[in-house]
Amino acid sequence: MNIILLGPPGAGKGTQAKRLEEKLGLAQLSTGDMLRAERKSGSALGRKVQAVMDAGQLVSDDIIIELIAQRIDGLTGAKGFILDGFPRTVPQAEALDRMLAEKGLKLDAVIEMTVDEAALIERIAGRFSCAGCGASYHDSFNRPKREGVCDVCGGKEFVRRADDRPEAVKIRLEAYRQQTAPILPYYRAKGVLRTVDGMADIDEVGRQIEAILGRA
Ligand code: ADP
Ligand code: ADP
Ligand code: ZN
Repeated sequence: MNIILLGPPGAGKGTQAKRLEEKLGLAQLSTGDMLRAERKSGSALGRKVQAVMDAGQLVSDDIIIELIAQRIDGLTGAKGFILDGFPRTVPQAEALDRMLAEKGLKLDAVIEMTVDEAALIERIAGRFSCAGCGASYHDSFNRPKREGVCDVCGGKEFVRRADDRPEAVKIRLEAYRQQTAPILPYYRAKGVLRTVDGMADIDEVGRQIEAILGRA
């Protein structure tokens, strides 16, 4: 099963992708995590995207398409994938369709997660993640079960993102409205778009997604 989780920054895509990865054995493909890994490794690509990411703007389509093509090509073992943070523009969505067609794969569902803006800002302001595996936590809404220890990988180091500053968040929300929201009608027209209420708590959103996938 191959699905896309779509929604504004802070909607809960990463949180739900990690959950589905564990529950269903799907591979999470997060372009944000891939870019952060490039930066951490100090690669040429990492250095190139740094300023754009920290400002809250989108990285260029050609860089992103190249990055994701390699990952889709390299997939082995997983029962399918969950795209998280990709596609984010119409050209990315079109490129994805071409990549999938070449590999004889199809999308089972594109799941839109809707969350109102005040909640997004609150979620992003309290977000921190595991430095080891990228699992997302929140100061109030989703703390690790054992204080200071990642539920997923047992890691003990946590980080806050430079682009989770309020000034960058405004730009990211605007980028979502201007550049990403136009892909919703693209998928609606293909008949694969489903919407969940991302305002519900984490478990409830998870149940809504699983219900959709049961029917997908
Ligand atoms: P995205 O990947 O869409 O940017 P995340 O999964 O990182 O979003 O979630 C953003 C923040 O909100 C994190 O701190 C996460 O723990 C928290 N969060 C995720 N889902 C919910 C939810 N349903 N209710 C409250 N907080 C949530
Ligand atoms: P969010 O919490 O906003 O969902 P992500 O981790 O998905 O954040 O992305 C962080 C940043 O990485 C984005 O603001 C953007 O600079 C870059 N990025 C990630 N995925 C893409 C993409 N598909 N296209 C362009 N830029 C991307
Ligand atoms: Zn972890």
